[in-house]
Amino acid sequence: MNKFILTAIKPAIYQHIHLPLINDKGLEVIVKRLDLLHTEVQGNKFYKLHYNLEVAKKSGLSKVLTFGGAYSNHIHATALAASANGLKAIGIIRGEMVTPLNPTLEDARNQGMELYPMSREEYRQKDSSFQLKRLKERFGDFYLIPEGGTNAMAIKGTKEILEGKDLTMDFVTCPIGTGGTFAGLLARAESDQQLIGFSSLKGNFIVSEVDQLLRKYGIQPKCSYEIQTAYHFGGYAKQKPNLISFIQEIKTKANLPLEPVYTGKMVFGLFDLIEKDYFPRGSKILVLHTGGLQGIRGFEQRLGIKL
Ligand SMILES: *Cc1c(COP(=O)(O)O)cnc(C)c1O
Repeated sequence: MNKFILTAIKPAIYQHIHLPLINDKGLEVIVKRLDLLHTEVQGNKFYKLHYNLEVAKKSGLSKVLTFGGAYSNHIHATALAASANGLKAIGIIRGEMVTPLNPTLEDARNQGMELYPMSREEYRQKDSSFQLKRLKERFGDFYLIPEGGTNAMAIKGTKEILEGKDLTMDFVTCPIGTGGTFAGLLARAESDQQLIGFSSLKGNFIVSEVDQLLRKYGIQPKCSYEIQTAYHFGGYAKQKPNLISFIQEIKTKANLPLEPVYTGKMVFGLFDLIEKDYFPRGSKILVLHTGGLQGIRGFEQRLGIKL
């Protein structure tokens, strides 16, 4: 992947985690810090946007339009990546937009993104041809990036997350939202690897959703894989006190910053599986830190805590 969409992109950093539990179980746990690729366009969102913006630019469109919630990492990343590429960006935000803007939306606006609220009823139909037509009437021609950014170009990008020695690790773990990132990893991982996705949403529907993505994009995984659905903590963007204290503990003891929507739930789930002897002794586990740390400010504001 050439790094044309952002010039300040850094090579991936790997962090070995040394904690008594990991050592006791004879495991090697290495975190690939995709959150450190760039201060603003963190983690998997960089990979998901890369080819989308390339196509938008090549097709001569001057604008991208996308959707997201008020604390969305995708909105945040799109705003910055679009502005870095001289593209205008429109963000359609679910529900009301409260002023003053929260830190996520404030950053997006400071990057030049135009923000428009959309009622929850309308938002549910945002992908209908009717809504799309209305948006085109209102904003003119644009390159559409779906909510969460998952499409063919996103998967082409996330396929490039695993490289080099990543492909020699026994297990690879990743958080799941829409499943786009996981699908890209499945397209790349080797036959002797096992991928574990941790869903941040409540319910088992994500398993068939990932199946659908694989069919739609013609992906036939060589590796084995599993989706863990027990670590949602009440549902998307919900959390519980034990998740918050876990995140605080990991930050202090392992110097690893996590956030409560995705990476915190994944690492909590990983440690639970380690405790339950899910992994054979000697296993090498690669943990993908998919970013999202910009969202911490909003959590701290709303919950009055420090993460
Ligand atoms: C968006 C996001 C995910 C989920 O990615 P999907 O491709 O939608 O599954 C995971 N982690 C972080 C930090 C994210 O921002």
